[in-house]
Amino acid sequence: MTLKAHRYPKNWRAIREGVRLRTNNQCAQCRAPNGEAIVRADDGRTYMLPDGQVFDAANGTPRGYARGSEYTGRLVRVVLTVAHLDHNETNNDAANLAALCQKCHLAHDRADNQRRAQATRSAKAERLNHLRGQIALPLATPRPTR
Ligand SMILES: [Zn+2]
Repeated sequence: MTLKAHRYPKNWRAIREGVRLRTNNQCAQCRAPNGEAIVRADDGRTYMLPDGQVFDAANGTPRGYARGSEYTGRLVRVVLTVAHLDHNETNNDAANLAALCQKCHLAHDRADNQRRAQATRSAKAERLNHLRGQIALPLATPRPTR
């Protein structure tokens, strides 16, 4: 889940740098280097570094080289973020933190974000139903008398 600024611990910068250094400033999952401009393939399965090296987007395995003119995709700047592996943003234990690029971080949090969104929608619906129960609904419009 995305962290709210006020929830970061005071030493967050040091924690973040330590986590990034553990994976040599690369995504722990796809190995994309932090700050690099890469091309993500249209099918999302690979990415290419500026020197033409192509890697598997799922795990960072080298897949060879490609020419930029033969490789179609979207140019993005890799932003290495720190993910809470158990989705508990108060658990800043080193074993619970991983440096992930924005794409891998979103994928990691997708199910949790969907679950939270569903919980929010359910709570709203419940509040609305509760309010409906408190409001006296008008009875059916009486038929006009002749
Ligand atoms: Zn990644």
